[in-house]
Amino acid sequence: MEQNLAEFCRILPKLELHAHLNGSLSNQTIKELHKTSGKPSTEDNDHWKSWEKITNQIEGHSLEECFQLFNITQSLTSHPAAVFKATQDVIQEFANDGVIYLELRSTPREVPGVMSKLEYIKTIAEAILNSSCQGILVKLIVSLDRRQGKQVAEENLDLVLNVRHQYPDIIVGTDLSGDPNKGNIDDYLPVLERARSLGLKLAVHCAEIPNQEEVMKILQLKPERLGHATCIHPEFGGSETLWIKLLQWEIPVEICLTSNVRCKTVPSYAAHHLERVIASKHPMTLATDDKGVFNTTLSQEYRIAAECFSLSKEDLYDLSLASVEYAFCTELEKMKMKDMFSHWKKRYLSL
Ligand code: 5GP
Repeated sequence: MEQNLAEFCRILPKLELHAHLNGSLSNQTIKELHKTSGKPSTEDNDHWKSWEKITNQIEGHSLEECFQLFNITQSLTSHPAAVFKATQDVIQEFANDGVIYLELRSTPREVPGVMSKLEYIKTIAEAILNSSCQGILVKLIVSLDRRQGKQVAEENLDLVLNVRHQYPDIIVGTDLSGDPNKGNIDDYLPVLERARSLGLKLAVHCAEIPNQEEVMKILQLKPERLGHATCIHPEFGGSETLWIKLLQWEIPVEICLTSNVRCKTVPSYAAHHLERVIASKHPMTLATDDKGVFNTTLSQEYRIAAECFSLSKEDLYDLSLASVEYAFCTELEKMKMKDMFSHWKKRYLSL
């Protein structure tokens, strides 16, 4: 059964390991949330106009502009019902795109008088637990925001630890994200160490901008996965030492092609550090990062990778299958996914 590349990428079973909830909202969800928000319409309309204008800019925007976009969706997911709907919509959209396993991440957020951080996390977990979407397994990673300081990070981790026992199969890890220009990594390393010692897996945003000292500290932490890993290779603002450490420690990287191009942290798809990662046979997974903000899908990321780096359909299959190893799920869940991959291969890729 021969499919064109785009269709092949859509039906290929895929794992999305790097997706921020509020960056993943589709225009449809945003429109629906906007309609039911009941907030003063001028404010919402302004948000909506700038959202449409900016996400439609194919040439991209600065990292700073990207970070402003998150405020727009976050203003709509400002009460539990909206958070619940947003989570379930995002799950359904990933499933429609052939994603069989999704790790959603989100930063605990409170809206005074409306929603506590605890309610925020619990609402996402409940939305995952009660999703009627078939054929997709979903987990939650709770993000720590490097703009919020050490004390908030510690408080957020305490919150996760308090609620985790209610959702032991859903809450699996912690992520460090937020504007890479802000915050000092030294404030967050002890919190991440504590999270790990208490059984949470670590996914840490790393090297989105050049900062050799910080990157070395993150690598030495040896998180289970690194987000982006852009400025590690010497040709991308890193150094030979950093690159060698990354390869030696075999820390899988979450590659977000479109996000990096649209935030201009890499000049183009063709000049993306994925080329180096592939050449080194380093463990990696493709991800969308913020499919709403960057107007992409995971299958599109697979297609772009294939077109820019001459990957065959078999390469794409192998790449997707390898992602199972890097997922924050149980060994049994991994085994079931691998089984599913081999059935799929027999049907669509028998060589
Ligand atoms: P949320 O945590 O509200 O569900 O998703 C949006 C948040 O994720 C942003 O405010 C930001 O902290 C984080 N985020 C989304 N995309 C990126 C990215 O590309 N890099 C970094 N460092 N953080 C991101």
